Amino acid sequence: MPAPVTYRGMSLVIPDNDSEWIEFYAHARAHRLMMRKCSACGLMRYPPTHACPWCQELGWTWQEVSGRGTIHSYEVVMHAIQPGFKEITPYAVVLVDLDEQRGQPTPDEALRVIANLVKPDFTAEADANVAIGKRVRVVFQDLADHLALPQFTLSDEPPEGRVWRLPE
Ligand SMILES: [Zn+2]
Repeated sequence: MPAPVTYRGMSLVIPDNDSEWIEFYAHARAHRLMMRKCSACGLMRYPPTHACPWCQELGWTWQEVSGRGTIHSYEVVMHAIQPGFKEITPYAVVLVDLDEQRGQPTPDEALRVIANLVKPDFTAEADANVAIGKRVRVVFQDLADHLALPQFTLSDEPPEGRVWRLPE
């Protein structure tokens, strides 16, 4: 088993038999955001589950995605559950609609990834800057030889649709 990785004082361990996440994070370490793509219906999914959530097919391949997307929703964490996040509260967690599979398989669905919203140097983005509709891109925070965390940072693209955030 790879050595435990420390992140914000937490020990991150991926068990040997968790091939789905071992491979996902190894691809992330190579700075590639990879989704599992169903070999029957062609839809991608996240998290990288064993079977297709749409058609239950077991066959799949890894498919690289651009890592570009739009903030679909967010939360601002005011009270950190993990002590390692205490010093950066309040901070934003974003749910991102990736560009590749918006509106599939139904108009209200998409390929969505949850992550922290960070600056390009991986410090927390100011929570006042998060809003639904803003454009983001993935950045990879290298933590070890076998593991990087995909995070999102605000991109310089114009927002998509209505920009909205909870009024102060
Ligand atoms: Zn499928």
